[in-house]
Parts: sequence; structure tokens; C-alpha cells
Amino acid sequence: MAPDVNSDVNTKTIVKNAYRITRTRGKTALRIRVPGGCLKAKHFDLLKKISQDYGDGIVHLTTRQGFEISGIDYSSISRVNSLLMPLLQDLEIDIGVTIKDLSKGYPSAGTRNIAACIGNRVCPFANYNTTALAQRIEKEIYPNDYHVKVALTGCPNDCIKSRMNDFGIVGMAEPQYDYKRCIGCEACVKNCKSQVTGALSLHKEKVKRDTRRCIGCGECILKCPTAAWTRNPVKFYDILIMGRTGKKNPRIAEQFIQWADEDVVIKVIKNTYRFIDEHIDKTLAKEHIGYIVDRTGYQVFRGKVLEDIKLNPEARVAKHIHWGGFRYSSDMFMSDNLQ
Ligand code: SF4
Ligand code: SF4
Ligand code: SF4
Repeated sequence: MAPDVNSDVNTKTIVKNAYRITRTRGKTALRIRVPGGCLKAKHFDLLKKISQDYGDGIVHLTTRQGFEISGIDYSSISRVNSLLMPLLQDLEIDIGVTIKDLSKGYPSAGTRNIAACIGNRVCPFANYNTTALAQRIEKEIYPNDYHVKVALTGCPNDCIKSRMNDFGIVGMAEPQYDYKRCIGCEACVKNCKSQVTGALSLHKEKVKRDTRRCIGCGECILKCPTAAWTRNPVKFYDILIMGRTGKKNPRIAEQFIQWADEDVVIKVIKNTYRFIDEHIDKTLAKEHIGYIVDRTGYQVFRGKVLEDIKLNPEARVAKHIHWGGFRYSSDMFMSDNLQ
């Protein structure tokens, strides 16, 4: 393929357009977002075409469940963008995202791809449809230049490692008990004790659930042979906040709101963008949400994010959060081991 004539490069523009500055002069890499990590097989033909006709024939699977197509000439960006149109139509426009000019490719790359475990379409442990919620969140927050990472996980097993994200949305099931169906076999009690948090105990051959210890994994419902446990049809979520990777202070996310309903999840994430608008340090090229919260403190974040939200009655909000995390220190290794 002959390259485009115009090969002038504006770094800021191409990064916003979801192309990366690479270590190879004149070459870039395109990052394809796949909300919820769920892609129809037919789109692989397009990824293959872009990679083979315009890139170096390699497609990298990203840690956020997208694709990175490397070895693309800067001069080919406009042509690659026009090829992307059916993908953007299917993965963004058709789920309700607004993109003004599809032929120009991705309008922003700051808010990262929403990652998700496979959810209840396949996994028996999942408490919700992670793809559907990822698409709903994508519609609310994309496109946006603020650097925010969201990951969804179907149950507290957290296969997607949502605790390493600014927002980890963990599916919760509220188990409901019918004592008349219970035969006192203890299968649920033993499983919760050995595999989860030990929230169940047997009293006079009936089961008690300690709601302070129950994390809503739903395993008792799966283990019960008589269907004495059933799940509340309302879907609940544990909202974890401000986990991160990075070189300065990596840390895992902590619980912000437990037993939140889906509308609360959406509003909390949307309101966080308002919080960023108000508090981001505009003198910096970019500032990550977690470090903004470190500056303002959790109470300011909580006040802003919850200011117009009517919480569902089951929701419980953390009074305080202390993240801590990991900090490199110069004396972390034994001096005896230094040469
Ligand atoms: S996090 Fe839970 S629901 Fe998701 S894949 Fe893992 S076990 Fe299944
Ligand atoms: S939902 Fe999970 S944590 Fe809660 S009682 Fe059942 S098994 Fe235990
Ligand atoms: S597994 Fe079911 S039947 Fe057995 S103790 Fe638990 S609730 Fe009762």
C-alpha cells in the first residue's frame, strides 16, 4: 500500500486519536478499545487487514482487553481510521456512544477501555452480565480525555483484577433463605467457611447469615441441594475505588459503596468526572484520578460524588478509607546484600 502524501505528525492529536508514540521513528501503534472485552468474531478480519496491509503483521493483546496494532506509518493514519468505521459503529455507536465523525477514528484515549471478566453469559459464578454493564458505562463516560480506568468483575473472585483500577465493580448476590426447604446438610456453611468469609453458621439445624461478613459471592446459592438459598433478583455491586499500578505508589482499590444498585454505580462514575473537572491540577499535562483524591482527601471526593445521588436503601458507604499502598524506599534491601 502506498502511504498518504502528508506525513506531518502532531503528537498530541495522534495520541488523542488512540495511536501511540512508539520507539520506532515514523511508526505508530493503534489501540482498539473493546468495551467489556467482548468482540464479535467477524471483526477479526478487519484487525487482520489493518495489521497486514498497514502494520507489521503483529496484533498485541493489551492488558485492558483491547488490541494494539503496531508498525503503522503515521502517514497511513487517516486511511486506517476510515477502515475502522464498521468497528466503531458496532462497538461504540450501536451501544449509544456519540462520536461526531466516525471516519476520523477514536475521538479520545484518556478514559481507558472498560475491562470485564466473562460474566454470566458463560461463568456460573457470575452475578451479572458484565458485558452489558460495561457497555452501559461506556455510553456514559466515553469519549473523555480524563485518565480513568474501570474494570468489572462478575463476583468477588475478581478474575479481572478490578482492584488494580480506579473503579472496580464487583457483582454481588443477596442470598435469600427459605428455612422450610433447608435440610441442615451444612454444605453452604462449610463452603462459605473454607472458600469465602465464613458468614454462615448452623443453629438448631437452620442456617444463619452474618450480614456483616457476607460479601455476596452467591456460592451458598450454588451449593444448596434443595434451593433453600435463592438470589434476590435485584443486582447489587461492590464499588471499589482508586486502585492503581504505576511507578510512584501502586495500590489496591478499597471498598467505597457496598450493596449499591446499578443506577448508583453509573451515577458515582459519572459524578467522578465532575469531581475531576473541579479538582484536577490544570498546570500538569495530566493528573491521574487517584492522585487527585490523594490531594483532596477521601471526604471531599465522597461529598462531591454523592451530592445528588439517592442511594438505594441497602447501600453502605465507607466512612473512611486509607489506601496506603506500596512506596519504594532507599533502604528496603539489606545493606549486607549490596556489593
Ligand atoms: S470473577 Fe467470578 S464471575 Fe467473573 S469469571 Fe471469575 S469466577 Fe466468573
Ligand atoms: S453469599 Fe458468599 S459470603 Fe455470603 S453467605 Fe453466601 S457463600 Fe457466604
Ligand atoms: S446447603 Fe441448603 S439445605 Fe444444606 S444447610 Fe445450606 S441451606 Fe440448608
